[in-house]
Amino acid sequence: MGRADGSCDADRTTAAAARGSGPAMARGGPHAGGSEGMNRAGSGINTTMAAAVFHGDERITIERIPLPRVGEGEVLMRVGKTALCGSDFKLWHKGAEFTAGHEIFGRVEQPGHRLHDTRCCVYIPLHCGHCASCRRGDTQMCLETSCLIGWNRPGGYAEYVPVPESCLLPVPEDIEDRLAPLLLDTIGTSAHAVRFAGRVMPPNEAASVLVTGAGPVGLGVVLALQTLGYRNILISDPNDERLAIARSFGARPHPIDDTSRLFPLIVECSGAHAARNRGINVVLPGGAIVLVGENAAPWMITEDKVFRRKDFHMIRTFYFPKADLGPNIALLRAHRDCYERLVDAEFGLDALPDAFVRFARGEYVKPLLTMA
Ligand SMILES: [Zn+2]
Ligand SMILES: [Zn+2]
Repeated sequence: MGRADGSCDADRTTAAAARGSGPAMARGGPHAGGSEGMNRAGSGINTTMAAAVFHGDERITIERIPLPRVGEGEVLMRVGKTALCGSDFKLWHKGAEFTAGHEIFGRVEQPGHRLHDTRCCVYIPLHCGHCASCRRGDTQMCLETSCLIGWNRPGGYAEYVPVPESCLLPVPEDIEDRLAPLLLDTIGTSAHAVRFAGRVMPPNEAASVLVTGAGPVGLGVVLALQTLGYRNILISDPNDERLAIARSFGARPHPIDDTSRLFPLIVECSGAHAARNRGINVVLPGGAIVLVGENAAPWMITEDKVFRRKDFHMIRTFYFPKADLGPNIALLRAHRDCYERLVDAEFGLDALPDAFVRFARGEYVKPLLTMA
């Protein structure tokens, strides 16, 4: 998931430091491992770190950049694992102003801080905590800031990432490092979409559900649907390997272009305009279509008879409320074996440029960047 258009004025200084135009001051930062990382005074404090730089035109280089500045109310986190996400292709094509990577797990590295060494995932939407949305618990759509970590300020394809304390999601010890990033987009975004849809189309009113797109979010939606009581789950995707995973999760494959069957609930996870349009076609009168997938290109809806002459809910959901973490950890524990199947590649930072090429070819479902 992600959107790259949010504004984030409060964090411009942090971002500038990350790009090398400001002071790199990591409070109580890590100790240097070599002369390259030593500052001139030889104090043994790192001033630079390795990071992926997205230049655009599908070009990524691994470079040393200044350590990001840690702002007031923030901590420095040593990145452990960052999952690759299809939404990163936008930055792969166009280039990124800030270090990319938004499905981040790591440890707080802030000696003396009460959270030092805590294992955490990173909740990417910054949020004020006091606007109407935040007070309602909808921290993913704060009315005061629309800044996202890994999009509008530095993210996790690097050794370190600065994180506001309010964006730290502590991860229990029984959740392995390699599964922890799944708590974000794969489980968090998926489960929130299903929970939100359940307000208008609860399991007892949805005799069947169609999921379109069997990527990590679509597969996550299948597992969330089952846990929340939905049965008769069908899924469409052009990729047979992904369909095989979906089948093993209990969903039945459904032909992509089949418009003969109508559904009371459709969860659209591909972001493809054709899938969205087909979804509008095959949603039953009174039913609901949930748009979870994203697409940077403008989407045109033809207001034809099918669209005009039925009542239906067209729902958009984004990310997840912070308080969903507990139920989402329970989801991960309940389907641990299934989620494990999604993590199908792990590699270090130097291999990231090549891994993006393979990921774009559809060779991986949920690959992980693993920092040393
Ligand atoms: Zn993502
Ligand atoms: Zn707020």
